[in-house]
Amino acid sequence: MKDSFGRNINYLRIAVTDLCNLRCRYCMPKEGVELKRHDDILSYEEIIEVAKCAVKLGIKKVRLTGGEPLVRANILYLVEQIAKIPGINDLAMTTNGTLLKQYAADLKKAGLHRVNVSLDSLRDDRYYQITRGGNLKDVQDGLEEAIRVGLQPIKINMVVIADFNEDEVNQMIKFARILGVKTQFIKKMDLHLPKTHDHHIFDRPPKCNDCNRLRLTADGKLKPCLFSDIEISVRELGAEEAIKKAVSLKPQAGTVCNEREMVEIGG
Ligand code: SAM
Ligand code: SF4
Repeated sequence: MKDSFGRNINYLRIAVTDLCNLRCRYCMPKEGVELKRHDDILSYEEIIEVAKCAVKLGIKKVRLTGGEPLVRANILYLVEQIAKIPGINDLAMTTNGTLLKQYAADLKKAGLHRVNVSLDSLRDDRYYQITRGGNLKDVQDGLEEAIRVGLQPIKINMVVIADFNEDEVNQMIKFARILGVKTQFIKKMDLHLPKTHDHHIFDRPPKCNDCNRLRLTADGKLKPCLFSDIEISVRELGAEEAIKKAVSLKPQAGTVCNEREMVEIGG
């Protein structure tokens, strides 16, 4: 699908839940976000319908994210159904890794190709602090299991924060090299401040000119841009019309998103 600026939109990120078992400081407020009503969250059948329709229209890459995708009940069923859709050449998940030890083998069996694991520090105390209570060992165990079962290529996502963990970048590169996984350094973004379009050294976010993404929130809104409040409801328009409209409304460049927290959009 081409958008109005000639960009080829072939990547769909699906937030399967807005719930999470961590509380990362840069992702959600301390008190969490207002919980959606159960009925407002798309069922798996609805998500599968959007994914099928998106693939029919030209999406080739799908990523499951959240919230934490592994906290949604029966997530393996969703992975299995999406993996069966012909035409997806890259099916990935972004996870905080805390439940991967338990899930990695079944995710692989269900047809997931690969995982990105979010990990911002290799120090117990810092990890606990940034996630407001997380246990580093859970992620390390999860990462090892993902490697063992071959959810490759695996990437570690590290949000780099000035005066907090920037001194660990080299150590993270070494750690990843020893494990044989890649690293992706992410600039900490503030959705509620105007997007800065500066040149930076980070792997993500990609520049607006190259953006090939659509995002689906857990409550069924397609967001053509992370840094925008434009949302199109798949329930109101139906999947096909909603996808076409989202692509047609994709702004040339992001500005600001006031209405959502990152945990609701999936990064
Ligand atoms: N819970 C999963 C996880 O943490 O990987 C998936 C959802 S999380 C919202 C997806 C990605 O967004 C993570 O890699 C996280 O580090 C990143 N993220 C969250 N808030 C961010 C922010 N303010 N700036 C940059 N990246 C952010
Ligand atoms: Fe949860 Fe991921 Fe957000 Fe951390 S970054 S609070 S793990 S959704």
